[in-house]
Amino acid sequence: MSVTQGISGSGSATTAPGAPTAPGAPTAPTALSAEYAARAAAVIPGGVNSPVRAFGSVGGTPRFFVRGSGASVTDADGTEYVDLVGAWGPALLGHAHPAVVEAVQQAAANGLGFGASVPGEYELADEIIRRMPEVELVRLVSTGTEATMTAIRIARGATGRPLVIKFAGHYHGHSDGLLAAAGSGLATFGLPGSAGVTAETAAQTLVLPYNDLAALEHAFQSHPGQIAAVITESAAANMGILPPDPGFTEGLIRSAHAHGALVITDEVLTGFRAGSAGYWGIERETMPDGLRPDLFTFGKVVGGGLPLAALGGRRDLMEQLAPLGPVYQGGTLSGNPLAVAAGLATLRNADATVYDHLAAAADALAVEVEDALTAAGVAHRVQRAGTLLSVLFGDYPVAPANYDDVLRQDTAAHRAFFHAMLAGGVNLPPSAFEAWFVSAAHDDRVIGRVAEALPAAARAAAAAQAA
Ligand SMILES: *Cc1c(COP(=O)(O)O)cnc(C)c1O
Repeated sequence: MSVTQGISGSGSATTAPGAPTAPGAPTAPTALSAEYAARAAAVIPGGVNSPVRAFGSVGGTPRFFVRGSGASVTDADGTEYVDLVGAWGPALLGHAHPAVVEAVQQAAANGLGFGASVPGEYELADEIIRRMPEVELVRLVSTGTEATMTAIRIARGATGRPLVIKFAGHYHGHSDGLLAAAGSGLATFGLPGSAGVTAETAAQTLVLPYNDLAALEHAFQSHPGQIAAVITESAAANMGILPPDPGFTEGLIRSAHAHGALVITDEVLTGFRAGSAGYWGIERETMPDGLRPDLFTFGKVVGGGLPLAALGGRRDLMEQLAPLGPVYQGGTLSGNPLAVAAGLATLRNADATVYDHLAAAADALAVEVEDALTAAGVAHRVQRAGTLLSVLFGDYPVAPANYDDVLRQDTAAHRAFFHAMLAGGVNLPPSAFEAWFVSAAHDDRVIGRVAEALPAAARAAAAAQAA
């Protein structure tokens, strides 16, 4: 399947070629975005450097953005939108937050990187540990993909076991072994996994249904002494938001530890976002003393918008990493001073007031969406995990529990809703499988602007559902 089709707006895997434009199609000018998309498509596969940006599942012209400030972003044609993408999470404080920009400018003026250690690296590690006492040592990397890849290498190195369990619909970046049933981009494009991953590599990952402890226990029984780790999103957030059922995380940790396997909790999206200590910080309250994952991965917010991610956890496991131990990991740009400065400024400014604000903004937004969709008679569910939310279109008398459930959603309704919101000045994720992100700059006025766009978008979704 070619994502280039999405660029031209002529169709994609999920939009039949020649399909009519979605109801509520944008009336704002898109000439420059369209021109840039064409120029990009000439030199970049599909015109994008990360597939979901191509608008493949929603069709139409992907917007090129030239500016962001607070809760809004402005596209190349000068249209300003309320932004609910937030750079996929990092813009926790709002776009171009003065403290973050200043920290990066100061760091830049002192040199862009030395390939040697800078003080900001341990300061950022300190800040992570302060929020997550389960994390005893931290290693900084540049992407979430590297963080999960390294955590798995540590797990295999420490246990001497080959296999890894992941859950269908959970996304852990694009390393070979983790691309099976990986939600998000793959779900958006209707791909089961990726070409170019060998059968041998794919066979090292067992994919299980989420929220199914019996399936987990069965996998351990079927592969005695073979499973190094279970990797799980703290709350699934790459198939829409799908939090773990009550008791699932506890059961998962107990089961894994009983079978000598480690638990890697992927907080790349949820970390310092779902709450001040991620989604684990929310679940931690409900856990028996001492029951905890062994390794955590972070990304997105922790880099404040620059390329930075991290992994951390039990001291003895983290000490497996070179130069202390036999598990190799390294990176030319790891701990880059600009990235570290952006992450540090973001976390230091994300205090309790900010998290209270994010929670209130997410609550207010959820109520507005719920009201508008209900008023228009649209079958839907608003999904939540801490300050994160997403909207699932379709009939869900019971809450979805796993990937199969969310794959049944009504992507045509999402498409219509997405375009009507865009026309109404709200930038939503261009995929039914992505979370919505608020920021500290999403105040009542901003939520009010979203509320104004909602009724027309709800009617568009209703029309699509009736069709
Ligand atoms: C985004 C994401 C990743 C991958 O991070 P990149 O920085 O895009 O490599 C891994 N895990 C989760 C849960 C994510 O949301």
